[in-house]
Amino acid sequence: MYDAIIIGGGAAGLFCAITAGRRGRRVVVIEHNAEVGRKIMISGGGRCNFTNREVSAENFVSRNPHFCRSALAGFSPDDFVELVKDHRIAFYEKKLGQLFCRESSRQIVDMLLAECRDARVRVETSCSVKDISRGENGEFEAVTANGVFRSPKLVIACGGLSFPKIGATGFGYDIARQYGLAIEETRPSLVALVAKKKADARLAGISVDAAVAAGGVTFRENILFTHRGLSGPAILQASNYWDPRKPVVIDLLPDGDIANVLSEAGNARKTAANSLAKFFPERLADELLSPNIAAKRVAELSNADIQTIRTNVHERHILFSSTEGYGRAEVTLGGVSTAELSSKTMESRKVSGLYFIGEVIDVTGWLGGYNFQWAWASGFAAGNAI
Ligand SMILES: Cc1cc2nc3c(=O)[nH]c(=O)nc-3n(C[C@H](O)[C@H](O)[C@H](O)COP(=O)(O)OP(=O)(O)OC[C@H]3O[C@@H](n4cnc5c(N)ncnc54)[C@H](O)[C@@H]3O)c2cc1C
Repeated sequence: MYDAIIIGGGAAGLFCAITAGRRGRRVVVIEHNAEVGRKIMISGGGRCNFTNREVSAENFVSRNPHFCRSALAGFSPDDFVELVKDHRIAFYEKKLGQLFCRESSRQIVDMLLAECRDARVRVETSCSVKDISRGENGEFEAVTANGVFRSPKLVIACGGLSFPKIGATGFGYDIARQYGLAIEETRPSLVALVAKKKADARLAGISVDAAVAAGGVTFRENILFTHRGLSGPAILQASNYWDPRKPVVIDLLPDGDIANVLSEAGNARKTAANSLAKFFPERLADELLSPNIAAKRVAELSNADIQTIRTNVHERHILFSSTEGYGRAEVTLGGVSTAELSSKTMESRKVSGLYFIGEVIDVTGWLGGYNFQWAWASGFAAGNAI
């Protein structure tokens, strides 16, 4: 008999277990992989972007944008940074407040495991759950490959559907359905997008600074042209807000007005193509101009030509048909409806003793350490409640 069973030994599950264990609770973490924290291991290109210096509710997407406030306020990036410092893990800020391990993501997993040991948390790996039910006296019973675990509290920390090859499953959503909890539609996110129109293969591999707008939010970072559409950090960010029915709007020269650039002294006798080549790789400059405009000297461009160039450079409306899928997505958008949960404890409003934490909930962060911060913060909130 445990005070709590936590299903999923990822970021949220381990942190919840540590928090509860430190409070003297007897908890067991059940992980079906042979080791915990596999997503942490591959995160941040192997260096785990474990949090961001500045985190607020505005950095998250959810049907209820206020839901994450309480948990985020209860456990801040500084709190996690303190822990990282206590474990003497060297880290650095890469850009935009994003904090990465200097050496390896493994250090974060090792830190969590060391904290689990200190907090007397039992971690069961290679342990698949066969069935979850509730006994007559209300306690949860988890039938697993390693035996039956019983507890009055059950925490679902199974994460989302992205990266199935390292053990992601829809188990968390299955449990939510089993107990009649609503789920916001899920889809891959923080992911490259596939263009509706066949992408120009000659552009694949080009990366440029851009401002990308989707769903009323604009991100200023690089975009990368791919064989099927667009990727790069600005596109991944926009994928959280992308509506398949609406175009994503891209400004390829966010710091200036291409019309002013063209009218600069010295450009008049150059061709439009040559003038643009100063700002863009040649292949992209070609794509931005129709052949007849490209060959004209700047002095010969009509107002309509300049307007066409302006639209092509500053307001590229691109329709995407799909994403590159869960196999490539960093997160799952949507999930267990926040309307079903207490924002203070993450406990189900309908089913007492049942908690959901981390990515399985309909709270999705931007790229840049926000998703781990949500995992720590929601795990901390539940860990203090169980
Ligand atoms: C390639 C990649 C890079 C990323 N980089 C970053 C980054 O640098 N910074 C950032 O903030 N976010 C990053 N993310 C997102 C981040 O990893 C997740 O948002 C975060 O791990 C979610 O934590 P979680 O505990 O909710 O889920 P997870 O960390 O996914 O943990 C869920 C755990 O549950 C286990 N599990 C699933 N089903 C079962 C079951 N039926 N029984 C038992 N166990 C089960 C899984 O094996 C897993 O260990 C990245 C994601 C990917 C895919």
